[in-house]
Amino acid sequence: MVRFENVSKRYGSLTVLDGLDLEIKRGEKVSVIGPSGSGKTTVLRMLMTLETINDGVIWVEGEPLTHMQRNGKLVPADINHIRKIRAKIGMVFQSFNLFPHMTAMANCIEAPITVLGMKRADAEARAADLLEMVGLGQKKGHYPSQLSGGQQQRVAIARALAMRPKIMLFDEVTSALDPELVGEVLEVIRKLGREHDLTMLMVTHQMGFAKEFSDRVCFFHAGKICEQGPPKELFGAPKNERTQQFLRAVL
Ligand code: ATP
Repeated sequence: MVRFENVSKRYGSLTVLDGLDLEIKRGEKVSVIGPSGSGKTTVLRMLMTLETINDGVIWVEGEPLTHMQRNGKLVPADINHIRKIRAKIGMVFQSFNLFPHMTAMANCIEAPITVLGMKRADAEARAADLLEMVGLGQKKGHYPSQLSGGQQQRVAIARALAMRPKIMLFDEVTSALDPELVGEVLEVIRKLGREHDLTMLMVTHQMGFAKEFSDRVCFFHAGKICEQGPPKELFGAPKNERTQQFLRAVL
């Protein structure tokens, strides 16, 4: 479904990702863990085309995201190609990023109407279902400032889903929340995992959640995957010394 092939990212002399190879299968739930600055967020941002890449190719459903195929060769992608592929991907950010001047409903129908060309009534019906699904059926008319952090993050999840993505990216989505609000957001992600046929890639500091929810956990260190495996193995019997050190520090 998604494949990073020898992908590198540099900022000046700083190498943030160093020849990354990562493959995610359709429907797979993958968590990315690792120390601060190891490149976790950069992986999601590149997949969302919020960052360019310096080397390598990212593939989505067998098509290159960063490139186009021309006469059997890969050439840099143009904006229409990037938009087409990116439409398959939704992202939820640490800091919610809702439009502050729009209600929960308006936040959820904006892109379906303007980008997908949906009729307003259809977009509203879908948004109402999604807001219901994240437990906010009664808050459709509320503005972000009238909602708690956990509620805002649940609107952000509904908004991303309104674009009917096949792949959902979650970037430390509970890090900005008060501890008592973390659970309600994780519960929505659990529900998504159970009820929707989505491929999910999440950067998280919630080790308990990564353990319980993921099919696979990737431990990043210095721009590379240092170790990966099913959560039982990675958390239960990490093989790499760096993984062991990291888990000792955070668990
Ligand atoms: P954290 O857990 O703290 O969020 P992370 O593993 O997600 O860390 P990234 O956000 O991917 O790390 O950043 C990796 C490195 O790239 C860091 O050293 C960061 O300072 C650097 N970096 C990220 N964005 C930029 C940028 N726009 N310009 C320069 N350096 C950047």
